[in-house]
Amino acid sequence: MIIAVIGGGAAGFFSAITCAEVNQNNKVIILEKTDKLLAKVKVSGGGRCNVTNACKSIEDFTSNYPRGKELLQGAFKTFSNKNTIEWFEKRNVKLKTEPDGRMFPLSDNSQTIINCLMAEATKHNIEIRTKFSVESIEKKEGKFYIISSNHSAPLIADKVIIATGGYPQPHHYNWLQKLDLQIIPPVPSLFTFNILNSPLKDLMGVSHPAVVNILQTNYSYKGPLLITHWGVSGPAVLKLSAFAARELADKKYLFDVQINWLADQPEISESDLKNIREQNGKKLVRNVIPFSLPKRLWELFCTQAEVREFENWAELGNKKLQLLFSYIKKYKLSASGKTTFKEEFVTCGGISLININEKTLEAKHIKGLYFAGEALDIDGITGGFNFQAAWTTGYIAGRNCAGD
Ligand SMILES: Cc1cc2nc3c(=O)[nH]c(=O)nc-3n(C[C@H](O)[C@H](O)[C@H](O)COP(=O)(O)OP(=O)(O)OC[C@H]3O[C@@H](n4cnc5c(N)ncnc54)[C@H](O)[C@@H]3O)c2cc1C
Repeated sequence: MIIAVIGGGAAGFFSAITCAEVNQNNKVIILEKTDKLLAKVKVSGGGRCNVTNACKSIEDFTSNYPRGKELLQGAFKTFSNKNTIEWFEKRNVKLKTEPDGRMFPLSDNSQTIINCLMAEATKHNIEIRTKFSVESIEKKEGKFYIISSNHSAPLIADKVIIATGGYPQPHHYNWLQKLDLQIIPPVPSLFTFNILNSPLKDLMGVSHPAVVNILQTNYSYKGPLLITHWGVSGPAVLKLSAFAARELADKKYLFDVQINWLADQPEISESDLKNIREQNGKKLVRNVIPFSLPKRLWELFCTQAEVREFENWAELGNKKLQLLFSYIKKYKLSASGKTTFKEEFVTCGGISLININEKTLEAKHIKGLYFAGEALDIDGITGGFNFQAAWTTGYIAGRNCAGD
């Protein structure tokens, strides 16, 4: 049986290897439109490749997927992060865990992952054709005719796995729509927020635990917030950008956020600031930094609240104290645009899961057509979750495709 895997990325390689491993009689061919294989693996995780995450339970793991959570809840029972770790270990690639749960190859080099996948492809006689850009697929009399403009004759296959990754523009999905697949319009996920003339600009580089909330929505996340030259970034912001990706696109990236800088001290109230005033009457307001806030942030709040340079706590009236506390608990910023987070970005949207049998990843309406990876409407936050989705869906599509 000839199986064509379209896309030479993480999901394409993993599904092709699984396909060939499960049934050695299969002739598996990877078709890749560029001249580069596993290009995203190479640059991933800052060149280290964040392969997966050490998250313990399936429930915890799937909470990191704004889209595709339900499908993955079932899929991880077949192939989870534990299976990924074992899979690579069996092939002499040991993974290590960082304190935040992200897992990388011991070598800290994405090339280790590429070498492993390439070696497996060679071992299983997987044929790889680069510069093969698939432009259409037709099914006639039980066979798939795969057409590429740079090849005169179509490639004929018995089964096909689509692992073409995310596309940024809706028109990129036109050739897939011809297969009667519903496409969820793509929008970017994982980006940072631009704040025009940000009052925080001079605090660039400051990072502090915060709860960030997008006003007029229910989106609110806790995590380190990083002040950048353009606005705000860090895990809390990236998580918001992922979970609210579509709503923020609809708002054309014009929205207001509110920051609570006391993420780890939710019990603190205004009376605690009043106590600080009582206990430090003779000291300068700017010199007594409450609640372990970053010094530069506190100075900015003082400036914004018009606290004089030599004003001491005893002189601080209730109005100013209330204003300072509102900056600490409810600091407002207006976002106007986004910046691509260079370390990782993914597509929200793609091939709708309603077209697909969630157990086998085969199209419901076209027998023999399977899907894997980011081409599907599945994406996660940063932390190794996107590759795990590629390994899991690649494994399931490969296994089921190899079947009979
Ligand atoms: C800079 C960056 C860093 C990242 N770092 C991490 C990380 O550390 N950890 C993590 O979990 N995730 C990371 N990600 C996300 C992760 O890389 C992707 O989710 C993952 O690569 C998706 O795998 P895929 O095989 O589905 O798609 P891709 O890796 O995008 O591969 C799809 C392949 O299909 C090819 N293709 C497309 N259309 C056609 C066609 N018509 N014909 C033939 N070939 C076609 C493409 O050229 C491409 O090679 C990162 C993403 C980026 C952009």
